[in-house]
Amino acid sequence: MSRNTSVAPTATSSAVAAMSPTSSSAVCPHCGGSGFYKKAVPFGHPDFARLFPCVCKMAEQEQREAARLLEISNLAAFLDKTFETFNPNVPGVRRAYLRALEYARQPRGWLILFGNYGCGKTHLAAAIANQLIQNHYRVLFAVVPDLLDHLRSTFGPSSEIEYDQRFEDIREADVLILDDLGTENTTSWAREKLFQIINHRYNFALPTVITSNRKPEEIDPRIFSRMSDRALCEEHIIIDAADYRRLPLAQRYPINNAQRRLK
Ligand SMILES: [Zn+2]
Repeated sequence: MSRNTSVAPTATSSAVAAMSPTSSSAVCPHCGGSGFYKKAVPFGHPDFARLFPCVCKMAEQEQREAARLLEISNLAAFLDKTFETFNPNVPGVRRAYLRALEYARQPRGWLILFGNYGCGKTHLAAAIANQLIQNHYRVLFAVVPDLLDHLRSTFGPSSEIEYDQRFEDIREADVLILDDLGTENTTSWAREKLFQIINHRYNFALPTVITSNRKPEEIDPRIFSRMSDRALCEEHIIIDAADYRRLPLAQRYPINNAQRRLK
């Protein structure tokens, strides 16, 4: 029973509790704020005098885990890119929108989105990531050129550990989202690293989302052949939309509730 191990309230948990808006505004009616409760059972019962974490404490743990996932996901700049803020009625985006929704519900195989600059594919990719994080997946969202820059800068004799850790995180994420494949103008070393990541995801059939605005022939043929394996991805979705980002704001963001909900 792993719950036993967290019986004693620690300095960390009370510090977090003090910072949490829910616990500072009102004392929990179930545990009086201690974060634990005892069951009303007679002496001799196995649960007698045992402390159980209260629901309020478990909510805190969930919040912390969600914050940690968000931190490693690299999504900070894309938090507003959700399904709620995407307009599926823009001509040309419907099919991609539905497939992205489906994928966020059950990430299996690879989802490939092609489309011109500004067609909404990054928004959809980020929406998938944001949704999956809410569902407790370990998601990594990476804009490919930035990712390669990052790998290059962390790679070196002095930072090998950091580099290895980062590389492992990327290779092993529950779901990896690679945005803007094919725009990287990079060294052969970095190209090789990218291939290794993608090849690993391919060999183990790990859920992966790739977006690109390139023509197939502009993508590394070794990568493109893996993207084209029907066993892993049924189709390449091509978003044939006008510049999604040039639409008036009211059309891009039909529901402004998302903003309100954040407050
Ligand atoms: Zn409580």
